[in-house]
Order: sequence, then C-alpha cells, then structure tokens
Amino acid sequence: MGTDFEHPENSPEYEGLKVNKGIAQPDPVNPNLAARLSGLRKKELGVDAYVNGILKGDINILSQAITLVESSKTEHQTVAQEVIRRCLPSAGGSIRIGITGVPGAGKSTFIESFGKFLTAQGHRIAVLAIDPSSERSKGSILGDKTRMEELAGDPHAYIRPSPSAGSLGGVARKTREAMILCEVAGFDIILIETVGVGQSETAVHSMVDFFLLVQIAGAGDELQGIKRGIMEMADGIVINKADGNNIQKAELAKAQLQTALHLFPPHESGSEPKVLTASAYERRGIKEVWETILDYCNTTQQNGYFDKRRSEQAKYWMYETINEQLKSRFYEKEKEQLKTAEANVMANRISSFTAAYELLDDYFS
Ligand code: GDP
Repeated sequence: MGTDFEHPENSPEYEGLKVNKGIAQPDPVNPNLAARLSGLRKKELGVDAYVNGILKGDINILSQAITLVESSKTEHQTVAQEVIRRCLPSAGGSIRIGITGVPGAGKSTFIESFGKFLTAQGHRIAVLAIDPSSERSKGSILGDKTRMEELAGDPHAYIRPSPSAGSLGGVARKTREAMILCEVAGFDIILIETVGVGQSETAVHSMVDFFLLVQIAGAGDELQGIKRGIMEMADGIVINKADGNNIQKAELAKAQLQTALHLFPPHESGSEPKVLTASAYERRGIKEVWETILDYCNTTQQNGYFDKRRSEQAKYWMYETINEQLKSRFYEKEKEQLKTAEANVMANRISSFTAAYELLDDYFS
C-alpha cells in the first residue's frame, strides 16, 4: 500500500471541531434544482397533484413538495401538512440511517461510496441533511458541488441539501417530513447526514433506525471525549480512512473503541454496536457496514425494538412539533406586544416575570 494518502487529522494542528468561515452559497449539486424551484414559484400544484405525483415517484413533484414543507409561509404549510397527512399511510417502508462524525471525518465521501454501493444493488436512496447552521455559513452541507458528484448524477439517488437554518427543531422537523415524502416516492434507503458538532445528532438519532458514527483514527483523545455522548447513541461506528499508512492505526483505534464501548450500558436494542474500519476513498469496508446495518435491522425487527423505536420517535415528534409550534405561534402573535414589553422591562418599568406572564396570558386568552 502506498503512503501517498494525506491524513491531516494526524497532525497536531488538526482541529476537527473548528467552525470554518462560511463560503459563498455554491450551486446546488442537482443541476435541475434551480429550475424546479423557480417552477414551483410559477406554478404551485394542488394537494391531489402533489400526492399523486409523489406516489408515482415523480422526482420533480417530490422536490416541489419538499420545498413546500420547507417554506415558512402559512399557505404553503397548510398544503404541505395535508400532503404529508395523505402520504403518511404509504410511508415507513425504508431503512432510515443517520450518519454523523466530526467535520473532515469523511462523511460525504463515505455517503458517496456507500450510496453508489447501494444503488448498484438495486436500491433507491435519498440523501438528506440536518445542518442548522447552513443559513449562517451560506455553505450548506451537501450544497457544495464538489461533494458527492458521482452520486448526484446517479438516477437511483436523490440528494437534497439541508433546509436552510431556523431553529434546530424546525430544521429537523422539515428533514423528517422530507424523509416521509421520499419514502412514499419509493426510496427504500434514506441517509441523513448531520454536521457532527453537537446538537443536531440528537435530532437525527430521533428519526432514524440506525445511527452510524464515522470516526477517524488519531484525531486525539480530547476529540473522542467530546464525542462520548454521541458514541453512546451510535448503533455502529466506522473508522474511516483506513488506507495507506493509516491502516494499522485504524485497526488499533477499532480495538480500543470496541473495548471502550463495553463500558457503556448495554443498548436497549439488544444489538451490541459494532466497530468497523473502512476506506470511503478506496471504497473498502463499505459492504461490511451495510451487512452490519442489515444484521441490526434483522435483530431489532425480531425482538420488537425496531417498531418500538419508531413509535417512540413518533411520540417524540409530536412533542417536538407542539413545542416548536407553540413558540413560533406565540412569537408571531405577540410580535408587537413583545416590543413594548421589551422596552418596559429594559427601562425597569416592569419586571421580566410580570411582563412574561402578561404576554403568555394574552396569548392564551
Ligand atoms: P466530511 O466533512 O465529514 O463530509 O468529510 P469529507 O467527505 O468532505 O472528507 C474530508 C477529507 O477527507 C477530504 O479531503 C476527503 O478526500 C478525505 N477522505 C474522505 N474519506 C477518506 C478515506 O477513506 N481515506 C482518505 N485517505 N481520505 C479520505
């Protein structure tokens, strides 16, 4: 094996968790997306047309419906929610896989290799993302043209960038609804990527059947430490970049991680998280990841955990939606009163608590 692979994460300067400066919004990976979006603006369909189009697997209509789901306009939301309600009975037929890892771990490279492997097996895959920072950075995850180019051109793959920022809960809800529509459009495997910097993992974890953590060997113990909470959530860990002069290191990290995982409480799934090594770059170890996921699904479908997790998630999303809606409706309705109250509180004319209770009472009256 040559030694010409670059492993910047091995250098002491490596800072996987550093937040990089945003870049200008690149063109979408999907060359037709812009046309589709402008198409939506010109011509919005009725609920029936959306539902029928999605059921037929029409990607144009699916894209338009997702744009509607992502819209914050009330009239769009009304149609979107009705489309989802009508689609729900046909949803749920996919394997939902969440993919996380620190920036630079190789998530997009992995998704490209994994995605190509799956479509070659006859699967149809949808790749979605949760990146609550995407609006601020203007460099939306999956939006970068250089990422997943090959997969983006695959007719059996559908790649959709993260909804642009709002609250994490809002972004996550939109992704979950997009996932439901993708399932109804016939995608049997959904991959949801998250940025791997802390909070979005929990949101992704609450909407997938299998949560995969992409790790790299040699990124430093402190980094792995930060990831501890996330490691506990993982149903499987893949140590990526096991190539070139990094193979031994990756194998060592694998052994260490597998030992470390024994210290965690056993997973409720009844399936012990496996640690694997792979090279997304050389496309090795990909099949083993898929087999691990299939094994997991078999085990959890047999022991009932698969369905239990999905119904727990449905409950979670009910509460999440209530929380999100309460907040956004409150702030919308009390917009003017909030301004006055804010000025009064800042001028010490009224206490924060009194102001808050008055506003809440006004909203609920
Ligand atoms: P992400 O930020 O987690 O999505 O990471 P990317 O997929 O953008 O990869 C970050 C860098 O690591 C890129 O320069 C990739 O070419 C490189 N990379 C990704 N996978 C591998 C791999 O399996 N082996 C090696 N040597 N490099 C990889």
